[in-house]
Amino acid sequence: MLSGAERPSKSFGRGRTCRHPGCNTRLSMYNNGKYCFQHEPVTVPRTRGRKIA
Ligand SMILES: [Zn+2]
Repeated sequence: MLSGAERPSKSFGRGRTCRHPGCNTRLSMYNNGKYCFQHEPVTVPRTRGRKIA
């Protein structure tokens, strides 16, 4: 387990975990988000040409 202070870093550290409460999914070092793919807030759906009502 990782314990200690969380400090924002410009570089993507390894061993980061999803910040969603209760989620301990490890984030890829290529994932610059704070959440895993399940909890990553999606603002722009990848649907082009179709509207989601
Ligand atoms: Zn998560």
